[in-house]
Amino acid sequence: NVNELKPPSEGHFAKYENGKLIVPDDPIVAFFKGDGIGPEIVDSAIKIVDAAVSKAYGGKRKITWWQVAAGEEAEKECGTLLPDATLEAFKRARINLKGPLTTPVGSGFRSLNVAIRIALDLYANIRPVKWYGQPAPHCHPEKIDWVIFRENTEDVYMGIEFPWNSPEANKIRDFFKKELKIELRPDAGIGIKPISKFGTQRLMRRALEWALRNNIKRVTIQHKGNIQKYTEGAFREWAYEVAVNEFRDYVVTEDEVNTKFGGKTPQDKILVNDRIADNMLQQIITRPGEYNIIVAPNLNGDYISDEANALVGGIGMAAGMDMGDGIAVAEPVHGTAPKYAGKNVINPTAEILSAAVLIGDYMGWREVKVLIENAIKNAINNKQVTYDLAREMPGVQPISTSEYTDVLIGYI
Ligand code: NAD
Repeated sequence: NVNELKPPSEGHFAKYENGKLIVPDDPIVAFFKGDGIGPEIVDSAIKIVDAAVSKAYGGKRKITWWQVAAGEEAEKECGTLLPDATLEAFKRARINLKGPLTTPVGSGFRSLNVAIRIALDLYANIRPVKWYGQPAPHCHPEKIDWVIFRENTEDVYMGIEFPWNSPEANKIRDFFKKELKIELRPDAGIGIKPISKFGTQRLMRRALEWALRNNIKRVTIQHKGNIQKYTEGAFREWAYEVAVNEFRDYVVTEDEVNTKFGGKTPQDKILVNDRIADNMLQQIITRPGEYNIIVAPNLNGDYISDEANALVGGIGMAAGMDMGDGIAVAEPVHGTAPKYAGKNVINPTAEILSAAVLIGDYMGWREVKVLIENAIKNAINNKQVTYDLAREMPGVQPISTSEYTDVLIGYI
């Protein structure tokens, strides 16, 4: 039974002490394969990570993989799509990889992915966006190297919305009229957009820590504070507050650069600036090289993540990770692609890169990520790619998922 809450007999769990993840040389990493193309891409990712770990550390370090279940596989085995045991295993392992899950219709879950994020309080959605040589619509994709930190628990993501003709909307309209002297149209649907200081600041902390750890020199707060002053505008204020109060020795704001440093950012400092959301959506196209980490509330973060991924080309390449306090779950941006499931044709790169971010950036085994990224670049440069990229590359014959996996292992 893959879903027994019995950890592997080998390996040790990572610990989380004083806000720091402490990783042994033989960490247990929990994972499930998920639905549709999940098993193919997760198998591929694990093979690649193992090859890179072995190459990087020659046996001194090793991952013990702990397989648990979710989705259709879990339902078959224990009658539920998302067993508590799986969530417990993820909490315990702290370092986790998942395949995509089908969003069930009429099962009581809005979405399994949302249920996992809520249960584990994974409040930061991290989307690294980088170009590896694949066909891309941007004319300078080589300038693109962004990591988007999207708030994952507040804002419109909470889904607090009432249809125009609901009793709730009526009550809200009455309240507004009586207490605030604000007249809302009787045929208006009503949504609420909560953004808190707590939610904003914990996200900003993770983004600045990421910048420090990975030597990234620019962090941009994306917001619509010119219009939504007390939600998006407050997000901006609270995010700056974390930067200047908690990371004072390491950061300089754009204001300070202009008033104190003659317009030049001191070399050893992280520049913290902010941009209005709509402008930001243009800036990443027109001046891609001027941004690195982008911190955004939920809805803006959603828009910019998809735009950013589109600019480097290919859903099969888009990696992601959800992070909370001392816990992370990595997964590709794409879903289960059911029409390709079991056909050995899809592109496992998004799952592989998600695993690389988990092991390289989150866990701190940086050499592993470098090896994996270089292998991907080599494969693409040599036109050894799956169907999704091959069809954008004239004259290139696609290779299968398993052939591509072997090609990457060859380059590691
Ligand atoms: P999808 O991302 O699964 O697939 C859309 C299309 O994108 C595919 O038909 C395929 O052409 C292409 N594609 C996706 N991944 C690819 C890959 N690795 N290589 C090559 N091509 C790839 O989106 P969908 O069809 O809208 O959703 C299918 C199911 O997945 C739904 O149940 C949806 O809810 C779920 N989903 C899950 C997640 C998740 O688990 N995080 C995310 C998105 C969608």
